[in-house]
Amino acid sequence: MRLLVVEDDPMIGRAIRQGLVAAGYAVDWAEDGRIAELALANGVYDLVVLDLGLPARDGMTVLEELRRAGNHVPVIIVTARDAVDQRIAGLNAGADDYLLKPFDLDELIARVRALLRRRAGVGSSLLTAGALSLDTVRKSVTKEGAPVSLSVREFALLEVLMQQPGAVLSREKLEESIYGWDDDIGSNAIEVHLHNLRKKLGAQAIVNVRGVGYRLAE
Ligand code: CA
Repeated sequence: MRLLVVEDDPMIGRAIRQGLVAAGYAVDWAEDGRIAELALANGVYDLVVLDLGLPARDGMTVLEELRRAGNHVPVIIVTARDAVDQRIAGLNAGADDYLLKPFDLDELIARVRALLRRRAGVGSSLLTAGALSLDTVRKSVTKEGAPVSLSVREFALLEVLMQQPGAVLSREKLEESIYGWDDDIGSNAIEVHLHNLRKKLGAQAIVNVRGVGYRLAE
């Protein structure tokens, strides 16, 4: 899952990014509204954390433009505690949730997870497919009830595949989903992670649809 954090305060932005990376997400950080718009034009994000008071373009404008363009990516707005009007305007403009500054990182992460679940149409933090179960909160995977130990990237990759069980996802799409701007990606990194996942979960667990991409086995 790849997230965009839009925040001009360097300390808050760094803290949010660190917290979300530690929670297993690929995170890009835009420090003004213009960079946010450029980043969002690519459409690669699963969720956006959006501060409203920003240089270059304010957060409300970014949000309105995003929705006008038909982009339905979940957005959590971050506002000052006393800015009730902004909060209401933000929700009316298409934000999905809000947080009041200063906020607790654990609460932000819990809200991010809740919104991502809602987006995927799953009611719980547990994803299942065939013999596989993946717990998005505990970051654990079992196969036929037995725990499987995965690296952070392997877990992120499996989570993306399990969120969309029937879908064939291209290598580029998988890459976009689990890496951010600052990540160093080797040219065959995805293939290496998929190879390792197959070794751990069974060769049949992930199907390669030649020329198209990868999907979870039925
Ligand atoms: Ca700000």
